Amino acid sequence: MPDQLQKSLTATLDEVRAWLEDLRALGLHDLQVADLRELQPCPPGIVGVDRGGDFGCRQETLEEIRADLGECQRCPLCRNRTHIVFGAGIASSRIVFVGGAPGKAADTTGEPLAGELFDRILFAMGLDRSSVYTCEVVMCRSEHRPPHQDEIAACLPFLQRQLAVIAPQVIVAMGEIPSRVLMGEKEEFSRVRGRWFKYQGVDVMPTFDPAYLLLHPHEKREAWSDLKEVLQRLRRED
Ligand code: SF4
Repeated sequence: MPDQLQKSLTATLDEVRAWLEDLRALGLHDLQVADLRELQPCPPGIVGVDRGGDFGCRQETLEEIRADLGECQRCPLCRNRTHIVFGAGIASSRIVFVGGAPGKAADTTGEPLAGELFDRILFAMGLDRSSVYTCEVVMCRSEHRPPHQDEIAACLPFLQRQLAVIAPQVIVAMGEIPSRVLMGEKEEFSRVRGRWFKYQGVDVMPTFDPAYLLLHPHEKREAWSDLKEVLQRLRRED
């Protein structure tokens, strides 16, 4: 056997031996393959906890997700941003509004879906920012272009984890990006807008992005019709 390969195998066996010794020190003397499967990490949104040797899982918090995100450089959009636009609002909200990517105002303020039109939409629904949760699929601004697929993929786990924590009754997907991402299909936005679908068991209403409505004000009537459906569904679940 060549020397290099011999060294590499020896190092790997040393690592496995040290790992098994650690597990034995934790009290796992009769380790079976099934035991190893049970040592898989907790599912997304859930963190492992050690309560004095009693291992279990619990729901992570929004603060923990934000801390994990840190000064994120997981995709090239980190170079352009002023602020990371992490979700904002209350963790117990029954409704979450998801935008696609921060516009100029959101990038400047760090507030998801920042802008007067979105605030007016909330007001018309009898809501305000303090009674809902808002977030974006991609948290850093991509100036003059939509985010690329790899940028969405890099940021998406943080959206999924936020939604798992909030566990709302209704999600409003504001525009094409959140609608596609939550639906997981490449349906034309014009075909899915205004039609309920489910994401992880939660009702999702795809409607227009406020930035699009600013450029196409004639669509506001359609958007309001979608949002009235959202209000009806929330009332039905009261
Ligand atoms: S867009 Fe998301 S993944 Fe990319 S740098 Fe910003 S926070 Fe990180």
